Amino acid sequence: MFSKILVANRGEIALRVIRAAREMGIQTVAVHSTADSDAMHVRMADESVCIGPPSSTQSYLSIPAIIAACEITGAEAIHPGYGFLSENANFVQVIEDHGLTFIGPTAEHIRVMGDKITAKDTMKKLGVPCVPGSDGGVTSLEEAKRIGEEIGYPVIIKATAGGGGKGMKVAQTAKDMEKAFQTARAEGKSNFGNDEVYIEKYLTTPRHIEIQVFGDGKGNAVHLGERDCSLQRRHQKVFEEAPGPSITAEERARIGKTCADAVANINYIGAGTIEFLYENGEFYFIEMNTRLQVEHPVTEAIFGVDLVREQIRVAEGLPMSFTQEDLQINGHAIEVRINAERLPNFAPCPGKITQYHAPGGLGVRMDSALYDGYSIPPFYDSLIGKLIVHGRDRPEALARLGRALGELIVDGVDTTVPLFHALLAEEDIQSGGYNIHWLEHWLETNLGDG
Ligand code: ADP
Repeated sequence: MFSKILVANRGEIALRVIRAAREMGIQTVAVHSTADSDAMHVRMADESVCIGPPSSTQSYLSIPAIIAACEITGAEAIHPGYGFLSENANFVQVIEDHGLTFIGPTAEHIRVMGDKITAKDTMKKLGVPCVPGSDGGVTSLEEAKRIGEEIGYPVIIKATAGGGGKGMKVAQTAKDMEKAFQTARAEGKSNFGNDEVYIEKYLTTPRHIEIQVFGDGKGNAVHLGERDCSLQRRHQKVFEEAPGPSITAEERARIGKTCADAVANINYIGAGTIEFLYENGEFYFIEMNTRLQVEHPVTEAIFGVDLVREQIRVAEGLPMSFTQEDLQINGHAIEVRINAERLPNFAPCPGKITQYHAPGGLGVRMDSALYDGYSIPPFYDSLIGKLIVHGRDRPEALARLGRALGELIVDGVDTTVPLFHALLAEEDIQSGGYNIHWLEHWLETNLGDG
């Protein structure tokens, strides 16, 4: 059993990991930049180490500083949270070279899934259905145009190293191809240092359905159903729910088994998410995330399991604490991402929190690192909290979401809370009848955001 782990992250996810560790009797070490000296994760951990200046490249992304913090404090393992170094294969390699344990998958799995072309190729071979498109990378405009004609427009050009919605461009017709192709390449190069791109059929009315998988690294794996994350702005999720309103038990069992078998086959260890677009009853793989997802709490709510605890267990070499048969869905859960952003344009809105009150009561979970008087620094992501509600069924979860949002007080900065109040009044949200383009249309019509 680990006696001490270091959390290489900040904000709500650092708290999330500290909480799981504490329940397991494991000591925790927080790392922080000088901008985060007063942050809640620093207060909550047993120990903390300052690892650099505000800029994340010199602090939360500094591998030498994080390894040094482990050596100073005697931490034996590192949990990366999400974002920052969570999908950095080199980080995992360095951790292992120092005789420490990474709480997550192997460097090799991160590398394979981090490159979208290799990931798609691997998944195809493992029997996972994929979006029709180019076989691997596309290097010239002529080739891109030929593939566009072959698979039929519209198509989407994607940077193989892309993430967070960056490096993706849609070509509606052949006329758009040149611009879309060059822009996707340029974004890949400037954001990820890699201009390789590939082409996929652009699906016009899909839902984003992702399957949570979990492996023990020894050839055993389970799935924990799906999350519907179709409500997105600029390819970024804002509202997630489980189970998916459009997925039947039969579909869940089938795609879930395909995914669990695929990751068991490669001896995958820890939590992973296999993302699909879902249209007309068919699933199409788009990418795999080899880490804990922001939206993992909706899965925890309906299955009653602690995914972080499970990650720590398998990293120690222990077996998973549940089998596929143990995993039964109970009710419905919804998460909304509360960002410090000003509507209608979602401009980041850092600043001092003059008053904070978290909602509570039956079926309400608020994961946030906010507190009265806290100053949100301008250097990081604008996510300041996740409100997760759980009810016996979807209508109860929706009613609970409205009630909990009404209780939440965040004064001093603008937040995305008004967006969720407005969405709850929409018939399509109440009925679950939305796809990945629904929110963009709604924002354009209602807020003029486009
Ligand atoms: P990222 O790694 O940047 O998150 P993904 O490949 O996961 O990129 O895609 C993010 C989102 O972009 C999807 O949830 C979906 O909304 C949209 N998208 C991606 N591929 C396609 C496609 N082939 N057709 C339509 N929309 C797509």
